[in-house]
Amino acid sequence: MIASWVILVVSLTYVGVLFGIAWWGDRRAEQGRSLVRNPLVYTLSIAVYCTSWTFYGAVGSAAHNGPEFLTIYLGPTLTFLAWWFVLRKVVRITRAHRITSIADFIASRYGKSTQLSVLVTLVATAGTMPYIALQLKAVAQSFTVLAGPDATAALNAPLPQVIADTAFWVALAMAVFGILFGTRHIDASEHHEGVVTAVAFESVIKLLAFLAVGVFVTFGMYDGFGDLFERARTSGIPAETFTLGMPDGPGRWVSMTLLSMCAILCLPRQFQMTCVETVDERHLVTASWLFPLYLLIISVFVVPIAVSGLMVLPAGADADAFVLTVPLSQGQEGLALMAFVGGLSAATGMVIVATIALSTMVSNDLVMPALLRIRWLRLTERGDLTGLLLFIRRAAIVAVLFLGYAYYRATGQSGALAAIGLTSFLAAAQFAPAMIGGLFWKGATRSGAVSGLALGFVAWGYTMLLPSMARSGYLSTEIVDNGLGGIAWLRPESLLGLTTLDPLSHALFWSWLLNIGAFVGVSLFGRQSPMERVQATVFVDVFKRSETAAPQVWRRSATVKDLYTLIQQFLGRATAHRTFRAYEKEHGVSLPPGREADAELLAMTERLLAGSIGGASARVMVASVAKGEMVSLDEVLKILEETSQVIEYSQRLEQKSTELEQTTAELREANRRLKELDRLKDEFLSTISHELRTPLTSIRSFSEILVDTPDLGAEQASRFLGIIVRESERLTRLIDQLLDLARLQAGHGDWAMGPVDLDKALEDAAAVTAGLFNDRKARLVLRLPPSPHPVYADRDRLMQVFVNLLSNAVKYVPEDGTGRVMISALPHGPAWMVTISDNGPGIAPDDRDRVFDRFVQVPRPDGAPPGGTGLGLPISRQIIEHFGGRIWIEDAPTGGAMFCVTLPVTRHATPPQTPPLSEAS
Ligand code: ADP
Repeated sequence: MIASWVILVVSLTYVGVLFGIAWWGDRRAEQGRSLVRNPLVYTLSIAVYCTSWTFYGAVGSAAHNGPEFLTIYLGPTLTFLAWWFVLRKVVRITRAHRITSIADFIASRYGKSTQLSVLVTLVATAGTMPYIALQLKAVAQSFTVLAGPDATAALNAPLPQVIADTAFWVALAMAVFGILFGTRHIDASEHHEGVVTAVAFESVIKLLAFLAVGVFVTFGMYDGFGDLFERARTSGIPAETFTLGMPDGPGRWVSMTLLSMCAILCLPRQFQMTCVETVDERHLVTASWLFPLYLLIISVFVVPIAVSGLMVLPAGADADAFVLTVPLSQGQEGLALMAFVGGLSAATGMVIVATIALSTMVSNDLVMPALLRIRWLRLTERGDLTGLLLFIRRAAIVAVLFLGYAYYRATGQSGALAAIGLTSFLAAAQFAPAMIGGLFWKGATRSGAVSGLALGFVAWGYTMLLPSMARSGYLSTEIVDNGLGGIAWLRPESLLGLTTLDPLSHALFWSWLLNIGAFVGVSLFGRQSPMERVQATVFVDVFKRSETAAPQVWRRSATVKDLYTLIQQFLGRATAHRTFRAYEKEHGVSLPPGREADAELLAMTERLLAGSIGGASARVMVASVAKGEMVSLDEVLKILEETSQVIEYSQRLEQKSTELEQTTAELREANRRLKELDRLKDEFLSTISHELRTPLTSIRSFSEILVDTPDLGAEQASRFLGIIVRESERLTRLIDQLLDLARLQAGHGDWAMGPVDLDKALEDAAAVTAGLFNDRKARLVLRLPPSPHPVYADRDRLMQVFVNLLSNAVKYVPEDGTGRVMISALPHGPAWMVTISDNGPGIAPDDRDRVFDRFVQVPRPDGAPPGGTGLGLPISRQIIEHFGGRIWIEDAPTGGAMFCVTLPVTRHATPPQTPPLSEAS
């Protein structure tokens, strides 16, 4: 028994030292000589994992269940050894996005969802309260054990008055500590170096204290491990206590290992220490082996202390107090006092960090979003919110500790330490699916996370919390024994008749089954908002992109002044000024207040705010000043549509420009042809004047002869007059044909289009030219199909063509009676083809196109004058093409020329093949 005042003085001194160290840590940080830039300090701060539960409870657990307590160390060891897979990613994301708590982390992953951050905060609070209560209880109990004459009696005594309750004073001291060192900065993502230093110090103290007791027991009371275990065997201590084995099967071992694997990551205080407080990611490398080593060292003496306690203390002594009572039983009061300080450090370390972590969540993820949403508070219009923020955070610290203390007073005497701790672990383990799933699976949705977490939480409450409450006497054991409403398969510890598992594994099984099931199921069938998709990518691909390169799916706009005011409100004028100057410098821009802020400045503002009020609230705040907000899916689609319109437009432009090029080329070609036409026109005029002049000249000269020579003989005179008449006729024909051609080419001319009987037209043309054939003693053969064949044409014009072709043919056939012209008509696709062939000299292939030009007359092989005008064929081509047919020349089988004419049966069945412009020539 130690005098109360001694314990009090020692405790107060210890707490005083703690304050001093924290103050020193903060000072060093301010001086730029940070203590936490050290992997050893980082690792020790993570050792806040070992709470009084470990310190006292592990021994208690070992005394009852043997080496099972090792699982609590095995889990974190595994997580840290495998740091490269999960921890590294979590730490990177936390740092890159200035995440302030696990609630912030999960909410940020799922689209900065306020709903989710509230839910996580609630679960974390519910899960942490018993844990804080547990620490207070451990301190109070250890005090009573030390001070009381009889440890067992002291433990069973009713709780003292609040004023006389050590736990109360500890809670109070921790509140002061939390306020002093936990809320020095407004930016929660800035590091609490003083706190970290103090916690690292506490880790050293608790380790040393525990080792001291362990060494004393093993080597002071006995001659080392061998002797200790030998004596244990002989004094009838159950062998399970100190031999590795699983008396209850592997179920509980697996569950506890899994739970503690998750706890080291998901417990709010562990997240705070491992992820939020990291100053250097590389410290993880050291921690990955040093932290497991710490756990190994602190666990070495657990079994020896437990076994010795079982041997030297009376049966029924509380094993949770062995660390104190074994030294006391040996009269080692100093050692016991040291152990008490170790337990105190384990408890206070946990309480401090948990309180800071929770208060950050409560203020950032619960209170701030709520306040910001209440419009009549007009918070967003208030000038400086830094004071309010600090107040909220401090109030949250007090509230958390008050709740923890209240919980302890309420549950008081009941429950072994280990059981309470595991309840907390299981609550934290509910974060694991959403957290770890969200790290690797982009498809995980907010709704999935919310439903998984909610269901898991409910299952935790029903299968874990409820039975423990019932066992503490706060609820009737009715439900636990008989199930909800007396329905047996609703019994909390054997849901649906699942009785094969121990209660812890049972609770883990159901809560995770529901949690993971809902998380995966809802995610698979749900849809993500654009914001969620962005955040999912940011999280999953964190190693693929640089910190600042958040995808710019934003289309928000705000002025520089708006953002400045926002930062000033939450972080103070100095910070606002500093960050904006830094931004200007870094980006080489100036930021006049009225200027439109770019996306990067907006993102920076949001990140900065996130560090102080959490991601979800930061988003709300920035949204409140930024016009346009987040783009909805519709908007994204619209943007995409606009983009594709722009693409289409530019494609059209491109097309237009190629069209333009084409047109230019065509114009150039047309111009070339116009020039050519102009030349042809000149040529034509000179040709025509020449053609007209020839007959005119002969008319004129013969007329002059007639006038000038009165004594011309009558015979001579009549011969000259005959020439004059023929020449005038030729002139008339020439002019008629020229006019006709001009009319045809100009597209004037009256056309009486309609079905024309082809056979009839050919027979009529033969009849018209019959005289010519008689004159030249030539024969005309018609080979026509038997029935009448209508073609689409103007009858008179068609006759004109046939007559022209027949009179040409007859002109060239031999005069000796062997002359022969043959007309035949055959179907030609959808048209009819008429061929008129003769046995004359034919037309040389080079001339076959030419003869369709005006005035072209091929000299006859016999040198005889061609007669005619050279206009018949051009006119014929005009006519045939007007009908939609074609005319061309081939070799006749009979040796002469063969003119082929196609004629469509209906309108435009055979389109003209030659472009009209060239036709003008
Ligand atoms: P023309 O009034 O001189 O007959 P055309 O245009 O009808 O004018 O004929 C042009 C030229 O085509 C003729 O001068 C002649 O050289 C040639 N030609 C037309 N038909 C035949 C044919 N059946 N055999 C040989 N040459 C022909």
